[in-house]
Amino acid sequence: MNPEVLAHGEVLIDLSQHGPGPMGFPAYEALPGGGVANLAVALGRWDHRVSFSGRVGADALGSLLRKTLEDGKVDTSRLTSDFPPTTMAIVSLDAHGDRSFDFLWQGTSCAGLPVALADASHLPQIFHFSTVSMCESVGFANNLASAKSHQVAGVTISFDPNYRPRLWENPAEARRAIQGGLSLADIVKISEEEVAFALDEPAGDPFAQAKRLHQKFPAPLFFVTLGPQGCLWKCGGEWGRQSPAPVKVVDTTGAGDCFMAGVLHSLLALGKAPSEVLPAEAAALAAFGVKSGSASTTKRGGIPSIPSLSDLQ
Ligand code: ADP
Repeated sequence: MNPEVLAHGEVLIDLSQHGPGPMGFPAYEALPGGGVANLAVALGRWDHRVSFSGRVGADALGSLLRKTLEDGKVDTSRLTSDFPPTTMAIVSLDAHGDRSFDFLWQGTSCAGLPVALADASHLPQIFHFSTVSMCESVGFANNLASAKSHQVAGVTISFDPNYRPRLWENPAEARRAIQGGLSLADIVKISEEEVAFALDEPAGDPFAQAKRLHQKFPAPLFFVTLGPQGCLWKCGGEWGRQSPAPVKVVDTTGAGDCFMAGVLHSLLALGKAPSEVLPAEAAALAAFGVKSGSASTTKRGGIPSIPSLSDLQ
């Protein structure tokens, strides 16, 4: 059977800080992660047919990532294992549980991903990607070519920039990557900080900036996440806002990925193309996205913090 979603991009190890170790230095745990992989596992666990396209290293951490995807009921027939070491992100947390990322990227498994051409006999309903694996020239061109190939084949394109400043030598290139993704996407999830960055403006009023960005890149379904404030959404000429219920935040890693998984889950259940969705339905997609995102902040890590569908319902 064809997948409902083909998630293309990064699967990596989040070396996640969890307090001081026995010698008094920061202790790190190897947690499976990567934004696109987090989204794929969330959808797999929630009983969707999801396939992951990307690469892991032919090493112990690569085996852990492959097993994690497979345990999450994600099809790995488009996941290759190759000689470079598995990519790692070193995730440090501040006192509020907010994280920063340093990457071991060059020469590792997620660098220079090849093009994922649309396979006419195996087309997904939705192709999802981000800018993480676009941070060098090969990955930049190949990700856009992969999305374009699926767009031409009539597949819905889903995009979450997931901008990680420390991955990019040149912020202008990152902005071009985000704009390239926005220009192809039918469904966009973007954070308020990324909206300002994509516009090349200092942070300002999130709503005014979201409106300006949407005028330039008018995706039929457009979600701007606002961290603890939930999200803004735009659909069919209407804007709306959705706030989360209060939660005890432990770690926000993967919150945006769970948000987007929640949106795609609800869209697949609705059975409509993004351009057919009504504003009241978009409000329900946003509500489930916000619920999924905020539930994921109550545990550490990306994949380990994905809430179960029964908990969410
Ligand atoms: P990203 O991880 O892409 O930067 P956000 O941080 O904006 O995205 O968060 C995505 C979603 O996760 C939000 O819309 C919200 O539902 C939830 N979320 C994030 N941070 C918090 C928080 N501190 N408290 C409650 N919910 C949160």
